[in-house]
Amino acid sequence: MNSFDDLVALDAEHHFRVFGRAPVAFVRGAGTELFDVDGRRYLDFLGGLAVVALGHANPVVAGAIIDQANTLVHVSNLFYNDVQPRLAQRVNGLLGGEGRVFFQSSGAEANECAIKLARRYGQRHFGPDRFHVVSMLGGFHGRTLATLAASGKPQMHESFQPLPEGFRHVAFGDIDAVTGALDGRAAAVLVEVIQGENGVVPTDLEFFVALREVCDEREVLLIVDEIQTGLGRTGAWFGFEHAGIRPDIVTLAKSLGNGVPIGACWARAEVADAFGLGDHGSTYAGQPLAARAALAVLDELERIDAPGLARKRGEHLAAGLAALDGVVDVRGRGLLLAAELAPGLDAKAVNLALLANGLVANSVTSTALRFAPPLTVTDAEIDEALSIVAGTLAEFPPQAAT
Ligand SMILES: *Cc1c(COP(=O)(O)O)cnc(C)c1O
Repeated sequence: MNSFDDLVALDAEHHFRVFGRAPVAFVRGAGTELFDVDGRRYLDFLGGLAVVALGHANPVVAGAIIDQANTLVHVSNLFYNDVQPRLAQRVNGLLGGEGRVFFQSSGAEANECAIKLARRYGQRHFGPDRFHVVSMLGGFHGRTLATLAASGKPQMHESFQPLPEGFRHVAFGDIDAVTGALDGRAAAVLVEVIQGENGVVPTDLEFFVALREVCDEREVLLIVDEIQTGLGRTGAWFGFEHAGIRPDIVTLAKSLGNGVPIGACWARAEVADAFGLGDHGSTYAGQPLAARAALAVLDELERIDAPGLARKRGEHLAAGLAALDGVVDVRGRGLLLAAELAPGLDAKAVNLALLANGLVANSVTSTALRFAPPLTVTDAEIDEALSIVAGTLAEFPPQAAT
């Protein structure tokens, strides 16, 4: 096998230089554990960035992938296959039915589908000016040009001008600002329930209730990006359930394949039907291998009661983090959590030290660590992780009181 240094050299010479990578190369996983190229064990409290909800090398998902790989990996969407319609039924059922689903290969593509659909619906029903998407400052929706335009990080827009038109941003949680932006051109509001990439930032649930009301009043579609929050992670099947609302369009990816690339765009049937034949497509959309993996994932998530586990284990992890010296605040829901560090502590440095001590997490901002472990994480693994965080924080000199 290549050594760690070989792999770093190959990456440096041949791969695009776009990732600031931590100094570790993983080669194997099992449940919450990861093993690096030198055989060292880590606890994975990031889960491939909220992807590996059922743990690494999950035997049920692996079995489904192996069986499907030996049966039929791919056929064109010019034909039916025997897996995609069943997965569509499952996803539609989880979202309460009365909708339709289109599969993609990533989260960004699922959001592209949602944005295209909202434009088509708006223009069909209200005329050619109805194509704007109002989204939230700090929000993250992907890296394609349209999803970048929808993401509320103006610094990230600078290098890629001109971006597609029709995207506007308002403060997350500010219902008056949203209402002000919903002029005759607005086709949709696009929002996360918890802004994951922005630092696991929640807002009042009443915001979403008011958002649903104003969208109804103005006949604007409500798109909820559940790519990071969906499928149990926050302690409900979908984050919007905490607010008791129902969106018009929902996007999923990350946990849906437990690591096999698949995304989904669900819409109310009347909205989905704004797309006519040929309006959207993708070579890999809902191909048998990815769809079979996702079916196994949904079966397993249901069998283990993923939302219940996320609530229970999430409480344990959140309480443990909140009790640590050096942590001043814990935010998020279920097993999507961020620990805000005491003033003066650099989250990037702490995160690198955690990795050196055998715990994988993420410095989601310069002052906060993000934790999104598999929902199958055990209480013993949470205690082990907490003791690594405590020990690591103790390595840093006490911060001057501010
Ligand atoms: C990760 C993420 C995306 C992008 O998904 P990709 O699969 O990386 O394209 C979009 N929205 C949210 C909320 C995400 O967390």
